[in-house]
Amino acid sequence: MAGGLRFGSLFKIPLYVDFTWFLIFFLITSSYGTMLSAQFPQWGPALAWGTGIILSLSVFASVLLHELGHSIAAQLQGIKVKSIHLFLLGGLAQIEEESKTPWGAFWVAIAGPLVSLGIFLLMTFLPVPTQSPFGVIVSGLAVTNFFLCVFNLLPGLPLDGGNIVKAIIWGFTGDKYKGIQGAAMGGRLIGWGLIGLAIVPVLLRGNFDNIWFAVVGWFVLSTASRYELYAKTESRVQGLVVESSMAVPIRAVPQADSVEQFVRNYLISMNDQPYPVVNEANTVVGTIGPREVQALAETAWSNTSVSQVMHRLEGQDTVSPGQSLEEALKRIRERGLQFLVMVRPNGEFMGFVTEEQMQSHLVRQLQFSEAKS
Ligand SMILES: [Zn+2]
Repeated sequence: MAGGLRFGSLFKIPLYVDFTWFLIFFLITSSYGTMLSAQFPQWGPALAWGTGIILSLSVFASVLLHELGHSIAAQLQGIKVKSIHLFLLGGLAQIEEESKTPWGAFWVAIAGPLVSLGIFLLMTFLPVPTQSPFGVIVSGLAVTNFFLCVFNLLPGLPLDGGNIVKAIIWGFTGDKYKGIQGAAMGGRLIGWGLIGLAIVPVLLRGNFDNIWFAVVGWFVLSTASRYELYAKTESRVQGLVVESSMAVPIRAVPQADSVEQFVRNYLISMNDQPYPVVNEANTVVGTIGPREVQALAETAWSNTSVSQVMHRLEGQDTVSPGQSLEEALKRIRERGLQFLVMVRPNGEFMGFVTEEQMQSHLVRQLQFSEAKS
């Protein structure tokens, strides 16, 4: 979420309010003000509306504390929290990365509702005269935090309850993306449920009181669908291994061959790609291509062996077929390599993969997974 007005920071986390938040603040304040003026006419309008404003601000503080709960749980796991935003539908802590373990994710998810539950219990058992402005604020805080806790615990993404479901499925199956998909399904059900709660009274009695549920329901529904798509795409990318993007394997060069033999038998044009060089045991020991040949005077081609001029293979040049495509792409980019040599665990040569091959394979897979969802 971008933009908004920065109003401070807590625990090194910058705090923002979105402009839509002012709308909700205005609506809540005016409904509290009207309600309190009618309920306590003896207070006079100034006290009634003043209490209304403080009540409204306390709703805002409750949401903020709830988000701080999530944020501090993340910070305790060494995860950076970029910001906390308050907006039309509540709050959002922007946590930089996900917890490493399901148990960690579970704590981040439940920390917010636990804070709300704590404030609810504190406010419920605080002995204050209920008819005083202070008493009204305390009971208002209790009600707000009760709903913050219960609503957020509904078991579907993007709600906290959804993140708890995700962490539990992730813990049992070891597959985070299965967890996200399960919890996103819950989110879709909750979204439709909320929309139903808004629409049914309209259809039956022409009653628009619950129409706000439709807005929240739509938000939950569309966010849950995005989570589902994300999980499908990510699980597909994670499952890809380098082998799947390898082009047809090519012939290897025996290391005892002379450079002249190599040029005659392999290098058809000087634009040709490098070839793997293998020893007697068919273990890949290096690569040779136009670059190595050009560095050698033509008169020396016949009495120089391939093994003398080849590029000796280093650990960073090789991949095993089962290695993740994502990691292999990252390595080839970071080290600026032309290609990776794919070798079986026993050292046997399998083929080459280039960045281009891996990239286009990845794009095809992603398009495929989008078409399916
Ligand atoms: Zn929460």
